[in-house]
Amino acid sequence: MSEQEEFDVIVVGAGVGGLYAIHRLRKLGLKVRAFEAAADVGGTWYWNRYPGCRCDVESLEYSYSFSDELQQEWRWPERYGTQPEILRYINHVADRFDLRRDIEFSTRVKQAVFDGATNSWTVKTDTGKTVTARYCIMATGNLSTPRKPNIAGLDSFEGKWYHTGLWPHEGVDFTGLRVGVIGTGSSGVQSIPIIAKQAEHLYVFQRTANFSLPARNMPMPAEKERTHKAEYPERRRAAYDTPFGIAGHPPPVKSALEASEEERQSAYEAKWAEGGSISFLYSYTDLLLKKESNDTAAEFVRRKIRTTVKDPKTAELLCPDNHPIGTKRLILDTDYYETYNRDNVTLVDIRSKPIQEVTPAGLRTADADYALDAIVFATGFDAMTGAMKEIDIHTDAGLSIQAKWEDGPRTYLGLMIAGFPNLFMITGPQSPGVKTQMILSCEQHVNWIADCIQYLRDHGLTRIEAEQNAENAWVQHNNEVADRTLYPLANSWYVGANIPGKPRVFMPYVGGVPAYKKKCDEVAANGYEGFCLGTCAEEQRFAAN
Ligand SMILES: Cc1cc2nc3c(=O)[nH]c(=O)nc-3n(C[C@H](O)[C@H](O)[C@H](O)COP(=O)(O)OP(=O)(O)OC[C@H]3O[C@@H](n4cnc5c(N)ncnc54)[C@H](O)[C@@H]3O)c2cc1C
Repeated sequence: MSEQEEFDVIVVGAGVGGLYAIHRLRKLGLKVRAFEAAADVGGTWYWNRYPGCRCDVESLEYSYSFSDELQQEWRWPERYGTQPEILRYINHVADRFDLRRDIEFSTRVKQAVFDGATNSWTVKTDTGKTVTARYCIMATGNLSTPRKPNIAGLDSFEGKWYHTGLWPHEGVDFTGLRVGVIGTGSSGVQSIPIIAKQAEHLYVFQRTANFSLPARNMPMPAEKERTHKAEYPERRRAAYDTPFGIAGHPPPVKSALEASEEERQSAYEAKWAEGGSISFLYSYTDLLLKKESNDTAAEFVRRKIRTTVKDPKTAELLCPDNHPIGTKRLILDTDYYETYNRDNVTLVDIRSKPIQEVTPAGLRTADADYALDAIVFATGFDAMTGAMKEIDIHTDAGLSIQAKWEDGPRTYLGLMIAGFPNLFMITGPQSPGVKTQMILSCEQHVNWIADCIQYLRDHGLTRIEAEQNAENAWVQHNNEVADRTLYPLANSWYVGANIPGKPRVFMPYVGGVPAYKKKCDEVAANGYEGFCLGTCAEEQRFAAN
């Protein structure tokens, strides 16, 4: 027999977003229940345990700001946190704020149904549980639905295969094995140098060459930690005034085309030596806006690849040629290009000679057979919409998320969806989330949602829904902003291009954190402009006008 409990808020997902939501909502006195498919907290950092998995935002930035004691006391040993370090940190947060008691682990939400008569969501899990709550918050993550390998013959493979986003907890030892890595996005680029050191031979199967910059990771300099921590309050505030939500990088002052060739080279060299992607993209004002400017930075990186990789043919294959730099997620690496100078590493071009099938003994491409003992799929995620669309989310009015988002996601501010009252998203599509330091964006969204729920309670209201017109205008604005940039030129997961058949829609908001946060704050200050507030479906009051 299934039991049914009632809560004020259901949170789906216990990554950094879901955890902060539990903490913040509990402080409002709300009864919260979270469900997490994994056996423990951490989200991204729970699942992605592949070798070399590491943050590409500096750890002093990529961390919660909501507790000054926490940010002062936590010690990050390196400039960029490794996956185990970040997971340790998230576990510490869960313990410190006693968050686990409200989470049911190893429990996947399968269905969420809205009832307009009671203004509540009923959620069903794969453990047979049914619970109801006034509000439901999807903290299901943007990069949490690993793209399943869909290659003929995989079942026949006699070796072992892995997906970087579902890595075995006990780790994998590739010593003495012939290994194939498929995919050269961030997960591939981070893992390849480490797998190469273990494997007897590593074959990297590359369809698209991506831009990668040196991370220049290092042990955390004591002085840097001391000054950063001393300046934390101002730095956290300043982060909201930067496009990507990351403080500490002086904003660019001029176009790349206003600088001489010599000046540009020395600017790019300095950024290359410093390490990090934000700093590099901040070289000039228009690297993501003007193709001619972008070309100067892209060509600089291609020259670096050509001088690093000794075999000219391999170097040329590694040079990205089909998208402007920065329009796909800019990767940070440690010794990625250098790895191709090893005798036991072979780069295989599967753009010109595609993979045809997996055989019992390995992989067959259009022109060769590769004998493999293990295959690593670094093929990414059904990003931004995958996790939500895996859940049967619908309303008693007959609207489902699958139908609503059939041609791509439509949201108001990436926070709510017209037709789905009382359903919030953390860093949903059409918010800047994935283009930012994501813990900052999670905190901003959770704070907005918590304030909103508080407002509704204070005003005796039980229902909030994005208005269709507001959503339409936001989607249009989102597209217009993207079209003013170079982003749509890339076949990236930002447009769903990595998933066959996914509608091509540019999903993140790229107008920057300051413009976005200002809009969210104004909407709230104006009594939740663009949202329809009410007590039940029949007696609604419009917030705006
Ligand atoms: C390899 C990798 C590296 C990254 N590096 C960076 C970085 O350097 N900087 C940065 O800002 N961001 C980075 N990100 C993005 C990262 O996802 C975010 O920073 C952040 O961890 C997202 O937290 P979240 O809580 O929103 O989502 P997630 O961490 O994805 O958590 C979502 C959780 O929801 C659960 N879930 C989903 N559906 C259901 C369901 N139906 N029922 C129950 N549970 C469900 C999932 O199991 C998951 O645990 C990286 C992502 C990846 C994959």
